[in-house]
Amino acid sequence: MAGHFDLRGKVAIVTGGNGGIGLGMARGLADAGADIVVVGRNEAKSQTAVADLAARGVRAITVRADVSNKDDVAAMIARVTESFGRIDILINNAGTNIRKPPDVVELEEWREVIDTNLTSAFLCSKAAYPVLKANGGGKIINIGSMLSIFGASFAPAYAASKGGIVQYTRACACAWAPDNIQVNAILPGWIDTDLTRAARKQIDGLHDRVLARTPSGRWGNSDDFGGIATFLSSPASDFVTGTAIPVDGGYSIMA
Ligand code: NDP
Repeated sequence: MAGHFDLRGKVAIVTGGNGGIGLGMARGLADAGADIVVVGRNEAKSQTAVADLAARGVRAITVRADVSNKDDVAAMIARVTESFGRIDILINNAGTNIRKPPDVVELEEWREVIDTNLTSAFLCSKAAYPVLKANGGGKIINIGSMLSIFGASFAPAYAASKGGIVQYTRACACAWAPDNIQVNAILPGWIDTDLTRAARKQIDGLHDRVLARTPSGRWGNSDDFGGIATFLSSPASDFVTGTAIPVDGGYSIMA
């Protein structure tokens, strides 16, 4: 069975891989043998993540890029191809949120969230596609949210981006299946990271409401994402494409 999840010799790009859920996924892939490229803007944070990943016995590098910027993304893909000669796995994980009701969100704020969460996945996937295709196949994993499914009064741009990412996943899955590229989405529940630490400060009672609604009785943590990321990156998922898999302790099936 180990062979189904063996990622030795594979090269994985993880956007936002320098912390939170991204680093949890990167650790999972590194433990399965993949070399890792950590993409983010905060180089100090990325260097710390790379040291953690390299200690697992794989090659890990950081490439500084704003994934909402087309030129940065093109340069990032060129740099990875030059350094490793291939790309097998792309995880579009970088994300942000601006919590405001729909009537007060400014256009610049809307654009910032949509560009970071959705346009980034389009830019990275489009730029990586020819490299994956040339390899004979590959894996793309996009990160959605519970707001890919549910509504919430406080995050209109975020919800639009995370709903959009599921449909973008399905579009790419259909288009690129003939190239042996599987494209799937992961929908995290409420996970303890910098992103939600800010939300917990902003939204009264959020911590307890999440606990009460989650059948598993806890918040998720970044280590909860190593296994699913490895599955969706490995030969074990070669006939799985276009899915959106909740990793949420049961949050999305609770009445
Ligand atoms: P974090 O804030 O810990 O991580 C976000 C990461 O994205 C950072 O590493 C950041 O790196 C990177 N990033 C943000 N903007 C850019 C950009 N323009 N260019 C490059 N990198 C960028 O949050 P999480 O780990 O919680 O979030 C990861 C993903 O999971 C996001 O897509 C988020 O929406 C999603 N998610 C999280 C949930 C949760 O409960 N935590 C729930 C559902 C979904 P840097 O600062 O170096 O640029």
